[in-house]
Amino acid sequence: MMDRSLIFAANWKMNLGPTEARRYAERFLSLTSPIKSRSLWFFPPAVSLGALCEATRGRADLRIGMQNVHWEPKGAFTGETSIPMAMEAGAGAILAGHSERRQLFGETDEYVARKTKAALNLGVTPLVCVGETLGERDGGRTESVIVRQLTPVVDALEPAEWNRVVLAYEPVWAIGTGKNATPDDAAQIHELIRMELGRNGVAVRVPILYGGSVNSGNVLSLLARPQLDGVLVGGASLDPEGWAELVGLS
Ligand code: PEP
Repeated sequence: MMDRSLIFAANWKMNLGPTEARRYAERFLSLTSPIKSRSLWFFPPAVSLGALCEATRGRADLRIGMQNVHWEPKGAFTGETSIPMAMEAGAGAILAGHSERRQLFGETDEYVARKTKAALNLGVTPLVCVGETLGERDGGRTESVIVRQLTPVVDALEPAEWNRVVLAYEPVWAIGTGKNATPDDAAQIHELIRMELGRNGVAVRVPILYGGSVNSGNVLSLLARPQLDGVLVGGASLDPEGWAELVGLS
């Protein structure tokens, strides 16, 4: 079915410490081989990043990233990790604007833009997440919320920088709830995002992943939509067998 390039991104959230990450890697690598049209991204907890990078060295189809970074290179920011430090430990990507960071830790649209710009300046790929809550969706505000979330990023980036950005549409009501958006819903919002970028002079086709309760049972119907360039997955990426099966389905 797939003749396009797909990204399968695993967000481990606050799961799998360094020892578990090494064990996971060993099992996952034994179950998968590189495929040209598929990249496998992992966002482990910060403390597991180094272990996962070491354990997966040599697999060029894998990219390991940080779930959260600060945009400043160093300084008095207790509890934060800078992008250069993350890169030294092996990170090649960062997540920005995940709904849990936005909702639980006060990550604003402005912070998301700063992190995205800093990542691009330093040469790591930002995976920028946008998405509406259930209340916003029910209130007919999906489009305005997504435009609001995108605007500071659009303002911060040169149009040409977008060829190094990946986006994820993650409706908040679908994350960790078992309720995924229908393929139609997802495709429609991906189109809306592309239109919004186009309206702002972004001429490149930015890859957009869908995230929210993706599993082996629904991934194929979602990825059958050409508007989707991959998936960002939390719960279903936590066990190496299940994740290897899911990324092998397409
Ligand atoms: C996520 O963490 O980005 C996510 C989509 O989680 P889940 O797959 O568990 O809904």
